Amino acid sequence: MSCNLADDFGSMVFGDRVMRKRIPKDVYKALKKTVKEGKTLDPSIADVVANAMKDWAVENGAAHYTHWFQPMTGITAEKHDGFISPTEDGGVILEFSGKELIKGEPDASSFPSGGLRATFEARGYTAWDPTSYAFIKENTLCIPTAFCSYSGEALDKKTPLLRSMEALSKQAARVLRALGDNHIKRVYATAGPEQEYFLVSKELYDKRRDLVYAGRTLFGAKPPKGQEMEDHYFGAIKPRVIEFMHDLDVELWKLGILAKTEHNEVAPAQHEMAPIFSTVNIAADHNQLTMEIMKKVADRHGLVCLLHEKPFAGVNGSGKHNNWSIATDRGENLLEPGENPRENARFLLFLVAVIKAVDEYQDLLRVSVASAGNDHRLGANEAPPAIVSIFLGDEITAALESVENGEPADKISVKSLESGVKTLPSFRKDNTDRNRTSPFAFTGNKFEFRMLGSAFSISGPNFVLNTIVAESLSQFADKLEKADDKQGEVWNIIRKTAVQHKRIIFNGNNYAQDWVTEAEKRGLLNLRTTPDAMPHFVKEKNIDLFVNHGILTKTEVLSRFEIIMENYCKTINIEAQTMLEIVNRQIIPAVSAYSGVLAEAAAKRQKVAPEASIALEKEIITKLSALSECLYKNMETLENALIGAKELPEDITKHAEYYRDAVFLAMQELRAVADEIELRVGGEYWPLPSYGELLFNV
Ligand code: ADP
Ligand code: MG
Repeated sequence: MSCNLADDFGSMVFGDRVMRKRIPKDVYKALKKTVKEGKTLDPSIADVVANAMKDWAVENGAAHYTHWFQPMTGITAEKHDGFISPTEDGGVILEFSGKELIKGEPDASSFPSGGLRATFEARGYTAWDPTSYAFIKENTLCIPTAFCSYSGEALDKKTPLLRSMEALSKQAARVLRALGDNHIKRVYATAGPEQEYFLVSKELYDKRRDLVYAGRTLFGAKPPKGQEMEDHYFGAIKPRVIEFMHDLDVELWKLGILAKTEHNEVAPAQHEMAPIFSTVNIAADHNQLTMEIMKKVADRHGLVCLLHEKPFAGVNGSGKHNNWSIATDRGENLLEPGENPRENARFLLFLVAVIKAVDEYQDLLRVSVASAGNDHRLGANEAPPAIVSIFLGDEITAALESVENGEPADKISVKSLESGVKTLPSFRKDNTDRNRTSPFAFTGNKFEFRMLGSAFSISGPNFVLNTIVAESLSQFADKLEKADDKQGEVWNIIRKTAVQHKRIIFNGNNYAQDWVTEAEKRGLLNLRTTPDAMPHFVKEKNIDLFVNHGILTKTEVLSRFEIIMENYCKTINIEAQTMLEIVNRQIIPAVSAYSGVLAEAAAKRQKVAPEASIALEKEIITKLSALSECLYKNMETLENALIGAKELPEDITKHAEYYRDAVFLAMQELRAVADEIELRVGGEYWPLPSYGELLFNV
């Protein structure tokens, strides 16, 4: 596919370039002002914008529009409506009104609502989010929207994210104003999510019901070769994959998505795409689109894109590194070390705000990345542990220590931070374990939150991050607004915060067993699994936080808790059912057929040559019989575990714990036996494409 980048970039986006051309200047200005200042939209301009949008969309081949939203399923949803409207003379005209642009009414009753449906009306509505541009996807005009219940409860991932951006902006602006910045209007959270994924052959994928139903392999003996040679990471990309990546970039660029870096990852068949960062709302929309388009483009190339956190046991899983920072409306990065003491004080103030937030709300950050899929990665020495800590690097750590030791401010900022700036390149090139093992690393001018699973919507982790930092900043602002000596107070806050939250800083190897012990001594949380983590979401201090900043009501928090826990149980249930189906309908028949073939061959041979040995066949058949018996027993255990799940009390936490402790355990035991059997059954009799084929045959 050819691509004229300059012309094609953003060609499917109703962005500023198109708007300036197609809507009157005053309307455009009013719209931009609304977006910039975070105000609500004047309905009078909506009609003009809607009409221009429709004309542009129709010229670009669209006949339908959809309110594109992000329900709690974690993927996006759309319901298409035609632009057509009947005329009196029996014809049609193409129409799209401001009302239709601003508000839609999809039926909300079949989306996860975590109990909200019982208490509130089933109907929901979608509301245009003018901060994210409309775009055309598959001949349909897509309008990014937030999705709420009729009583205003958030039913999606975008609403709390937008609310959290407001909260962060408000509190950060208060701090900046207290520091004498009288021009600040808004502050933006920015994000650049690095997306990992696997590509496997579609033909092989279709033969694996576990990949089809669960997105990950539930069986599979280790191949002779995995990732131990470290020959895949940044290695030469295979031609078929290059074609996929090229095609993907072209599609993403058309949608104005700044796909920038494509490379191979650690595991065979694993790859990564990193975009250039944008404001978190747009980054979240773009990441959802990216995941969707990755799957579609892969299909065109006879490939399947696996976004699951752990598609294969024994090789690395996939994560999503969420690079995050805060910028002013003038484009200054507030986490960029400054060039003079004044800017450095500001930098350190925002830095300690993040440190304080991460320490005080470790539990919420862990909650924000909790899922059945991600539990396979966290703490498995391929991804950060489940313990949240911050990597600052030696220079910044030293700078904070100098502040703690009471060194005069001007001295600190010049001496330590100058060298801090100089070492930025080495931070970036730092590929040692030390840096890569940290769940939350300062990487020179942003933080990289590395605990996200590859399949996640980044909205959850970012609304938590924005909110907890808004809380730190609001406490700082309270103090600064009251202080007479502002500069003195700034250093005071930096010093006190650095001392108080020191325990969360860890520059060492997060994979080491010593760290688990050390973290426990420091009083840090180690929430290993989703059922361990989730109850923290509904703790009073956390509900208060969300309520105080207007991010989520208590009911919304409780409903999200239900949804995530239910999703955890359902995921494991599907996986267990899939395993039973594969064992019963594929593995047992395969073992039986293969044993039969061996027995027949041995019997025939004996007939022809009674003196020939049949020890080998005997040995294999005996071994397979023993393993099959074991397989059968483990299958029964799993079946019983699933029956047991039906008899549990109502409590969702109990359910989740049961799925983890009884069902998941039984699944692992069943798999262990099946994988052993796989290695003893003739290749052509084994019904599932092997790990070797899946990982190396792209
Ligand atoms: P590295 O490769 O060391 O992780 P990069 O500079 O390549 O560092 O950045 C990785 C990701 O971080 C990219 O997606 C990039 O756009 C994003 N990023 C860079 N600066 C910021 C920022 N200020 N806010 C959010 N994300 C950022
Ligand atoms: Mg990175």
